[in-house]
Amino acid sequence: MLNKLLGKFSQDLGIDLGTKNTLVYTIDKGIVLSEPSVVAVNTRTDEILTVGEEARKMVGKTPSHIQAIKPLVDGVISDFEASEKMIKYFINKVHVNKFTLAPRPRVVIGIPLDITEVEKKAVEDAAKSAGAREVFLIEESMAAAIGAKMPVSEPTATMIVDIGGGTTEIAVISLGGVVTWKALKLAGNAMDNDIVEYIREEFNILIGEQTAEEVKIKIGSSTALKEPMEMEVRGRDLFSGLPNAVTVNSGQIQEAIDKTIKQIIDNIKSTIESTPPELVADIYKQGIYITGGGALLRGLDKKIAGITKIPVRIADDPLTCVVRGTGILLADIELLKKVTGRD
Ligand code: ADP
Ligand code: MG
Repeated sequence: MLNKLLGKFSQDLGIDLGTKNTLVYTIDKGIVLSEPSVVAVNTRTDEILTVGEEARKMVGKTPSHIQAIKPLVDGVISDFEASEKMIKYFINKVHVNKFTLAPRPRVVIGIPLDITEVEKKAVEDAAKSAGAREVFLIEESMAAAIGAKMPVSEPTATMIVDIGGGTTEIAVISLGGVVTWKALKLAGNAMDNDIVEYIREEFNILIGEQTAEEVKIKIGSSTALKEPMEMEVRGRDLFSGLPNAVTVNSGQIQEAIDKTIKQIIDNIKSTIESTPPELVADIYKQGIYITGGGALLRGLDKKIAGITKIPVRIADDPLTCVVRGTGILLADIELLKKVTGRD
């Protein structure tokens, strides 16, 4: 019975359409694709050159007729056409060769909390024109909570904070729905920008955003480290215009990203303040779950716990929570119907 069911649905896809990374999941193979959400376009011909990792390598390095577009840069779909092409490209990549033989798949796609109806339609249409038979859109926060195995259907609160590239989504979930939430355009990219700004102001050196991200991942922290770290960064000296290098330490990077971290935590606090008291009591008991790539920042769990006085847990494998949640939904049609409000 189970095999029959799995066989029937094995072409189905779960997709996490992130601002930074897009992941695709199938029931029989698990995560089959994980690539940056970037599309490279030839602006002379409007042709797509490449998508994903190869396109990411072009960011900041393209000649004038090539544009490396991040279609979801602000968490919302800032570039309709590129998003559509990207979704199609990824679906086709996963379904290469098999597609004509197989029945058209059912697709579950994670979307931001503050997406507009027009944007929802764009995502749905893109998936349909890539061959999807049926498209289910699910809030990423809900998918992340499901991926983290939280009891989302129960009458108890789950608080999930998903810190991605472009956005941080804060949600309190109970009884299969999102009760209170906030979506901010402030997450990993903002921290990278903080680092670019800090190094420019302190050392008069301009570094690229990818270098800034590397610094954040290698030595970034939201609390003081017992054993401070340092690394050399290279960029353009703004006095001489020539390449130059400087050594930065973890304390400096902590200082650079502190204002973004504080704003994220302020918004966690205000989301809790607008949550009904019975649910707040649950959150104190169960803790706040953090997920998304930003959850991997050193000390962030302790920093949030210190300020909110609520225990904080890092979800297992935070970069894949959302897509694993969509995968669980593919296999559990009842839950899928419940959380998408469809029957
Ligand atoms: P999205 O869902 O928006 O695509 P992700 O959940 O994939 O985003 O997270 C990407 C963000 O997480 C990026 O800003 C990236 O720099 C950041 N990130 C990834 N790993 C780490 C790490 N170890 N420390 C801090 N930030 C990280
Ligand atoms: Mg995400």
